[in-house]
Amino acid sequence: MKAIVFVILSVSVASGLGEKARFDNYRVYSIEVENNEQLQVLKELENQQNGLLFLAPPTATQTFVELIVPPHKFADISELCEKFRMKNDLKIDNLQRLIDEEQPSLTTRAAYGWKQYHTIDEIYDWLDQMTRRYPRELTNYNIGKTYEKRNIRAVKLSHNPERKNPTIFIESTIHAREWITVATATYVLNELLTSNDPEVREMATKYDWVFVPVANPDGYVYSHSSNRMWRKTRKPQRNSCFGVDANRNFAFHHAATGGSTNPCSETYAGAKAFSEPETLALAEFIKSFDNIRLYLSFHSYGQMLLFPYGHSKNRAVNFNSLNQIGIKAKEAIQKRYGAKYSIGSIAEVLYLASGTSIDWVHATQSVPLAFTFEFRDSRNGRYGFVLPASQIIPNALETMDGLKAMLKEAKLRQYL
Ligand SMILES: [Zn+2]
Repeated sequence: MKAIVFVILSVSVASGLGEKARFDNYRVYSIEVENNEQLQVLKELENQQNGLLFLAPPTATQTFVELIVPPHKFADISELCEKFRMKNDLKIDNLQRLIDEEQPSLTTRAAYGWKQYHTIDEIYDWLDQMTRRYPRELTNYNIGKTYEKRNIRAVKLSHNPERKNPTIFIESTIHAREWITVATATYVLNELLTSNDPEVREMATKYDWVFVPVANPDGYVYSHSSNRMWRKTRKPQRNSCFGVDANRNFAFHHAATGGSTNPCSETYAGAKAFSEPETLALAEFIKSFDNIRLYLSFHSYGQMLLFPYGHSKNRAVNFNSLNQIGIKAKEAIQKRYGAKYSIGSIAEVLYLASGTSIDWVHATQSVPLAFTFEFRDSRNGRYGFVLPASQIIPNALETMDGLKAMLKEAKLRQYL
């Protein structure tokens, strides 16, 4: 009896109150930040615990913020926008409807595939299946435990384990709600294992590929069980808030700019670099490879291909190569379905953000090529993070095209 009581208690603790957050009639606004006064107002708003959620935080003037607004806050926000003359655009008028329509309506869960989004257990089962099918090519790793004691898994694909192939490292789903990222990462791995396309076969055999498909397992589970819009990790922090923005937690200009020191913020950088078990495990794992030539960090959304640096607008020493490789990828991506990507450094194209994984690998781990992919939806798209599952395969196909072009150009420039 005691054991049963214990189990029930731990389940309810693990999932908070056990209720799934609903977003019925919640709106998403895009607000233009034109001047400093508006920026300060929005920053103040972000620091209050007021039921608003910034999907894109206020960072600088001449940018946009994106804000989820519950119905009881509609009047406040419209008053605020009017008072400070902030131009705003209603992007989503009922966030819950998008969440309800995100997955196909299946009566049973299908086997692992790319027509629906999968849970972490389904993803890890699929990794096990693939490792059984390709025991010579694939190696599984448990790289560490999350705060809630889940395994953080990785898999390496190598056709020449004894020879030192250049290594391509793919990290995905460090931000929990970006479900398209793990769907795309597993698609790429599956292609490398099963495709008959000679170009893909060559990619698979000439390089070693390392995947960390879910870099933030606690957050990912929470985004399925409790709050679809969850971004951070899940360790309790000060002020009764949870989690750190893991992609602001790396040890390169940590918390210098573009992250937040407020534990309740979506971009909270953490008390110190590598304060979270997830980022520490990932960093140690990355350090265990000595030949990573290309590092990719998968994110959504906005259709951008970004490279270092994020902490400042200073250009990387190989800026020109990064930019040219990015342009080749962008052109290949656009060719398939017309999706338009923006290219540039994080600081120049997106916003100042320090402590990101790509800045850290590039600046401290001698990885010459490091990119952040921001997948679909487009910047002005109607779905944002809640991309319908019917777009998984189109997104994956154009990403494969981009990867092919990227590797070709990197090889021409003698990085691979
Ligand atoms: Zn992200």
